[in-house]
Amino acid sequence: DPRLQAISQAIRVIPHFPKQGIMFQDITTLLLNHKAFKDTVDIFVDRYRDMGISVVAGIEARGFMFGPSIALAIGAKFIPLRKPGKLPGEVISQAYELEYGTDCLEMHVGAVLPGERTVVIDDLVATGGTLSAAINLLERMEAEVVECACVIGLSDLKGKRKLHGKPLYILVEPR
Ligand code: 5GP
Repeated sequence: DPRLQAISQAIRVIPHFPKQGIMFQDITTLLLNHKAFKDTVDIFVDRYRDMGISVVAGIEARGFMFGPSIALAIGAKFIPLRKPGKLPGEVISQAYELEYGTDCLEMHVGAVLPGERTVVIDDLVATGGTLSAAINLLERMEAEVVECACVIGLSDLKGKRKLHGKPLYILVEPR
């Protein structure tokens, strides 16, 4: 796809953020580039519009920058998966491992119905721990997770094993 190169180039790499040794993939520059931003959303929309998807679940915070546009375009609802303590209603929580320590994602009870076909969206997958927690939340509510989708994905994905065998769709690799 000829659009992918421009999408990749619109992502800024910031060395040593948030700490020494990390090459941070900064998607805010992609959001500044109307063509690249729209192409990114369009590629996901073209993929998911005829797959019977009724739910797009986005992971806080950068999954919120792509997920709602995709949901609106394919006629699906959007579910925010949030960091702990942010959602006001009754939630279910799922802890997951980080490099150092653990983190947690939460989802509102009742947001998804049993059997609903769902795509999980985030900006970037590294180890797959975050996507894995998202899949767990949705499956605990008996949703059908069809696929996980990210703008950026590491090629040697140790994360893939963590995705419960769910397909992973990524647009570009880190630069
Ligand atoms: P994982 O759980 O797959 O190891 O890490 C993925 C999560 O970390 C995603 O929610 C993603 O937003 C965040 N993340 C880790 N590194 C980066 C990075 O370099 N750039 C961006 N934009 N997000 C990152």
